Amino acid sequence: MSKSRTVAGTAIKQIEMRRCVACRQVRHKSELVRVAKVAAKISLDIAGKLGGRGAYVCKSAECVQTLKKRRNLDKVFKLKVPDELYDTIKETVLM
Ligand SMILES: [Zn+2]
Repeated sequence: MSKSRTVAGTAIKQIEMRRCVACRQVRHKSELVRVAKVAAKISLDIAGKLGGRGAYVCKSAECVQTLKKRRNLDKVFKLKVPDELYDTIKETVLM
């Protein structure tokens, strides 16, 4: 891609950017894990293929720990997210 097409390049990048619900920083999708709510069920969306409402968290020990401590997903999805899911996210990221 030529450098004169920066505008189009930027637009594409912004689509790929998501905000981490723990640290509130905007990062590229590849640096985040997606958690999806599909029909009132919250699951870890590793392949990024689930539909529904999504929340993102950094693939970092700090963020997944903060996420569980503050229960950020409960607020995002407006329901009680089970501890097991927070643990699954933590385990997946720290693997
Ligand atoms: Zn983060």
